[in-house]
Amino acid sequence: MENLSNIGVIKDVLSRHGFSFSKALGQNFLINPSVCPRMAELSGAGEGVGVLEIGPGIGVLTNELLKLADKVVSVELDKRLIPVLEETLGEYDNFKLINADVLELDLNKVINEEFDGMDVAVCANLPYYITSPVIMKLLEDKLPVKSITVMVQKEAALRLTAKDGTRDSSAITIAVRYYAEPELLFHVSRGSFMPSPNVDSAVIRLNLREPLYRPKDEKLFFKVVKAAFAQRRKTVLNSISSALALDKNAVSDILKEAGVEPSARAERLTVEDFGRIADAFYESAAL
Ligand code: SAM
Repeated sequence: MENLSNIGVIKDVLSRHGFSFSKALGQNFLINPSVCPRMAELSGAGEGVGVLEIGPGIGVLTNELLKLADKVVSVELDKRLIPVLEETLGEYDNFKLINADVLELDLNKVINEEFDGMDVAVCANLPYYITSPVIMKLLEDKLPVKSITVMVQKEAALRLTAKDGTRDSSAITIAVRYYAEPELLFHVSRGSFMPSPNVDSAVIRLNLREPLYRPKDEKLFFKVVKAAFAQRRKTVLNSISSALALDKNAVSDILKEAGVEPSARAERLTVEDFGRIADAFYESAAL
């Protein structure tokens, strides 16, 4: 459908379908016509590329992705949007809608079945109530994708693209940096959405790559990261020993073995620091 980012057209489609926004499903739809083309362009959608989208809403971003990519598969939880999307995107034969909860879906299976022989990119204006779990799932499922381009709350964007070892760093910063090179692409004001949320947003892209550090045990690595950030105001020694119920002297020795100062705060540590701590735990068999 032409002019899908025009607010008059959007209001008309929604009212004809008797659609009311669900706050619980994070439904803030884009109405700023300049955002979706820019986001689709920067997502890597193009010839030979299949795009996996999460939460198409009424299909504003999907429409732009479909103009560029070979195929778009969108996962939408709200079944009331099925007839709406049939109307707005019905003209495309390279679009597929999956009515499911993205957190419950086997995304590797979807990609294998739907994007045979294509490069794959993920692109989404995420429902903000599940930003972190969706991003963690996209990373931990080790999907064969080149990049993940997502709109998130501005504060989340800063955390997700923070440099490890700096003040904005958190457990998810380390997870992102472990799997990918993050970039903050552009800011989007709250007025670009209907209904307008009470926070601003930003679009980020995670360019996936091989981990910079290969810990001996990946699960142990993430356990240590989580423990170190469990009480981020405390020292890494206190946070790890209390979160994992371990003897302080033993943890102190392990940190020193890894070349990390026990009095440091977790936010000051890099992926490599956490890698060495996890490996020192592995060698000591304390966990
Ligand atoms: N892409 C549209 C846009 O930019 O206007 C809509 C974005 S809106 C922020 C988020 C969308 O995600 C909504 O359509 C909502 O119904 C959908 N959604 C919410 N929870 C979901 C889930 N667990 N799985 C799949 N889709 C979900």
